[in-house]
Amino acid sequence: MSDRGRREGRPSRILLVEDEPDILNLLRYHFLERGFSTQTAADGAQALELLRREPPDLVILDLMLPDMNGLSLCKRIRHDPEHWGIPVLMLTALGQEEDRITGFEIGADDYVVKPFSPRELLLRVESLLSRTYGRTAEAAGNAVYELGGMRVELEAYRVLIHGEDVGVTTTEFLLLQDLLRANGRVLSREQLLEQVWGYEFAGYDRTVDTHLHRLRHKLGPYAACIQTVRGIGYRFNPRMDSHGEL
Ligand code: CA
Repeated sequence: MSDRGRREGRPSRILLVEDEPDILNLLRYHFLERGFSTQTAADGAQALELLRREPPDLVILDLMLPDMNGLSLCKRIRHDPEHWGIPVLMLTALGQEEDRITGFEIGADDYVVKPFSPRELLLRVESLLSRTYGRTAEAAGNAVYELGGMRVELEAYRVLIHGEDVGVTTTEFLLLQDLLRANGRVLSREQLLEQVWGYEFAGYDRTVDTHLHRLRHKLGPYAACIQTVRGIGYRFNPRMDSHGEL
């Protein structure tokens, strides 16, 4: 898989896990029409295989699957270091209130009760995606990434926190930009060095750490979005649920 396989600009990929073919087709139709790309799984085993092969941006999960309870699948996603950050929306039946509560306890992000309106589901998905990954938009010819009170102006090389320019250096900006483009994937120090400085910088891995340390400091309440993955490198994770402010 290419390094930049999950770069910004590609359609969001939704994994639909549902064993009822009619519902699956209906979902697929509406998501494709709306410009999403979809993967479908009719049971838990298929879902796990797809997660491993081609991690989606969001999972829609029916709780009643033939081979596995949807809740156990959700739990596995949340405990998997590669996938724990992927947002999960549960499809529940009327009368499944208990499951819904359990679902939230184990980390599902939202739910929709069957029978549902596809329009409502799409709205929920779009809001969950922008809550999770932030939003990149073109404003007055300048591409902007926004997450809560953080605003990254991609062409002006500026980062604003609650409206205030925090004064990042070019190097800090390029590191941030690369992490944003990696879309949640972990980048090694070597990859960051090569992408930002443009050549191998063997033996000077600490350079990246030093710049990221300063960048985190400037990001203030959003510092936690830049996560160190021990022994591997760094990733940008906009989910700050466990760290408070958004
Ligand atoms: Ca089902």
